[in-house]
Amino acid sequence: MDGKRVALEIREEVKENAKPWVERGIVPGLAAVLVGEDPASRLYVNSKTKATEEAGLFSEALVLPKETTREELGVKLDELNERDDIDGILLQLPLPDHLDATEFLDRIRPDKDVDGFHPVSIGKLVQKRPGPKPCTPAGIMELLRRENIAISGKRAVVVGRSDIVGKPMAMLLMHANATVTICHSRTKDLPRVTSEGEILVAAMGRAAIIRREFIRPGAVVIDVGMNRAETVEEVKDFFGENEKRLAAFEKRGSTLVGDVHPRDAMEVASAFTPVPGGVGPLTIAMLLANTLELAKARRG
Ligand code: NAP
Repeated sequence: MDGKRVALEIREEVKENAKPWVERGIVPGLAAVLVGEDPASRLYVNSKTKATEEAGLFSEALVLPKETTREELGVKLDELNERDDIDGILLQLPLPDHLDATEFLDRIRPDKDVDGFHPVSIGKLVQKRPGPKPCTPAGIMELLRRENIAISGKRAVVVGRSDIVGKPMAMLLMHANATVTICHSRTKDLPRVTSEGEILVAAMGRAAIIRREFIRPGAVVIDVGMNRAETVEEVKDFFGENEKRLAAFEKRGSTLVGDVHPRDAMEVASAFTPVPGGVGPLTIAMLLANTLELAKARRG
């Protein structure tokens, strides 16, 4: 499944739907807060702000030094909470060790909670009430919908129970009438459980752990994981003699791989999301969609 294409479609729609609001002088605004200079986080923030601008929305990136204190970060978030031109606030994780992510995610006003991580948003999600949904699982639901993959009555298995992916994913699938099983590191006989899934979502952060025997033949497999293959043996095992991958590995010393073994998925699944180009772009697209929805709800 081409997550990139679907993500572009969603981004175009956000741009179109934002136009009448922009013409009325309401430019949906997204603020991204980054504490410290973690290069991967910096890259994420850059691609999020770029995508926001491309959709015709207002974007502001706030990069704070890694020594930022609890008080200072609290003040910054409060300022953004108060600003009328900011509709969504995203706090890029992870935070430096001396700052507790929960404390600051809770500090973001629920009506500006663009990532859907605030307990109020999670409560609404559980109760199937309108509100921002965590972007990665929301993007996966959009992908399944747009690819005409029926969910109702299906057996769905989610591997991973994090607050940002696994749990909300399971909830959204259940709301779409799937029968959902959630697996985690203590699940016994994982392949037996995962191979029951007609829809299998892997969100563990373990390189290519989902092998052939984990996948029900014909299953739809969604690979959320983002890991690095760091030896040429791994690259060849995961991708075969794929020239593009081998060249990428030569150049960077590693290449991206999901939680699902790509060659096995290709043979056993009826459809699956590649890494990269699957779930990642959808996450960013849903961030823009959430920003627009929050602007409409608060300023409409
Ligand atoms: P996380 O908070 O580390 O959670 C990982 C989950 O996987 C945990 O629930 C853990 O179980 C479970 N797990 C770990 N090893 C396992 C194993 N061997 N067997 C079964 N379950 C296992 O990770 P996350 O934030 O949800 O992210 C998961 C992956 O998705 C990461 O690779 C991350 O980079 C990627 N991600 C991608 C996107 C995107 O946009 N593409 C967005 C978010 C995350 P326990 O609860 O028992 O520890």
